[in-house]
Amino acid sequence: METYKNFINGKWVESSSSKTVNNVNPANTDDVIGTNRQATREEARAAVEAAAEAFEGWRRTPAPQRGKIVAKAARLMEDAKEELAQILTREEGKTIGESRGELQRSINVADFCAGESRRMNGETIFSELPSNFVYTIKQPLGVVACVTPWNFPVAIPTWKIAPALVAGNAVVFKPATITPGTAVRIVQIFEEAGIPAGVLNLILGSGSDAGDEIISHPAVKAVSFTGSNGVGIRMYEQVSRRGAKCQCEMGGKNPVVILEDADLDLAVENTAQGAFGSTGQRCTATSRAVVVEKIADEFVERVAKRAQSMRIGAGADPQTEMGPTVDEGQYKTVLEYFNIGREDGATLVYGGERATGNGLDKGYFVQPTVFDRVTPDMRIAREEIFGPVLSVLRVKDFEAAMTVANDTEFGLSSSIFTNDVSRMFRFIEDIETGMTHINSPTTGGEAHIPFGGIKGTGIGDREQGSTALDFYTELKVVYVDYTGTKREGNLY
Ligand code: NDP
Repeated sequence: METYKNFINGKWVESSSSKTVNNVNPANTDDVIGTNRQATREEARAAVEAAAEAFEGWRRTPAPQRGKIVAKAARLMEDAKEELAQILTREEGKTIGESRGELQRSINVADFCAGESRRMNGETIFSELPSNFVYTIKQPLGVVACVTPWNFPVAIPTWKIAPALVAGNAVVFKPATITPGTAVRIVQIFEEAGIPAGVLNLILGSGSDAGDEIISHPAVKAVSFTGSNGVGIRMYEQVSRRGAKCQCEMGGKNPVVILEDADLDLAVENTAQGAFGSTGQRCTATSRAVVVEKIADEFVERVAKRAQSMRIGAGADPQTEMGPTVDEGQYKTVLEYFNIGREDGATLVYGGERATGNGLDKGYFVQPTVFDRVTPDMRIAREEIFGPVLSVLRVKDFEAAMTVANDTEFGLSSSIFTNDVSRMFRFIEDIETGMTHINSPTTGGEAHIPFGGIKGTGIGDREQGSTALDFYTELKVVYVDYTGTKREGNLY
């Protein structure tokens, strides 16, 4: 069993606290992978102070040099891909195929960000005055906190840490308490790649304690957060009140719209993948299927059959299609939503129970679940469950589908299945989500493409892609006057 440590000012140090947490395999709770003492507030402060001190040297390191270290980290991650994928599956529960996919996404993100280090360009702008010119430069912010959830514990930290470092910031990384093993390996990789002491620090502590200390520290100039809406909104209030920047990527209630002319084979398989893949624990998971009445019976019958055929098991088994929920808390939440759906009057078509037998009894397994005849006011149509639960909402036509799809506080992802080009484009124009997919699942994204949501899902700049560095830099405008004379007029 591994003992995880904090990484402060280039050294691995065990916390002095007496509070310990175990890292448990959600597929088999007898398998305790590691343990760590929860960092104290003093240790969190020490990490911020180390970062503040290291920042001066790091910001003066040319951006392409910073990028080289991130590129090296990408190569090391590639070398360690299989080992990291195994750790990820063991601590988070997703299937080994999903873990390998997450690792590849992380490598791609690091590669992309390393390339961006050679493109941190500003603009030159013509002045309205003679013998004057104006240009802009992008500068780092200082110490940045990266606060991340457990569901993509390699990819999300990578898509925050890599651009933050390339931009010239020093980082304090606070991962989710329940996924310390992958967090430690990511930081080890950056250490091996040559990151200077203090430039990247890791604090393994609880959000409400060590996390709160980090985000409240006056030296922390920006906080990049991914997680739940409850935590994110409070964090945004807290951080922006002291004038620091805060970026929040939060929950989703992502709809797929299925019209009467859709390729039903495609729609069924992609909806099932979107709803049950990663055990529904993706911010972009498909949680609502908005289906026109004409094809609803057939769609429901087929998607329920597909749910029934899902092979549930430990993610390490290559045959497994759906792993466990991540921990007891998440497991209980999903079981509670099964009851909420029944009590609210939805028709349970498949699932709705914990999954047992065949080696599942020691893990947090639930059945992939389909509720039909869900109405827009029901809680299973409105609240993020973060489990493998699909709510089918029947509608009369395309117009009604648009109203139902947009009837949510969230705005992360969506998709439509149709072959009608005109309705396809009307959907693209009117759907209120930050990302949308045509004839493909609500999930997925690529390293060089911006990622994020609107409405209640996202606050601040988009992560990844061409916008990845926006949050981590300030724009400075420079006016150069080479007339050598006192300015006449134009004194505003
Ligand atoms: P949480 O909001 O519970 O936690 C996220 C992180 O915040 C954790 O590291 C947590 O620490 C930390 N935290 C909690 N409270 C505080 C605090 N007061 N101060 C500082 N840090 C704090 O989210 P989950 O980990 O449960 O992740 C699931 C959620 O993430 C879902 O809602 C999902 O939709 C969302 N998500 C959104 C994505 C997007 O891009 N839109 C992508 C992936 C997930 P600790 O673990 O110690 O509590």
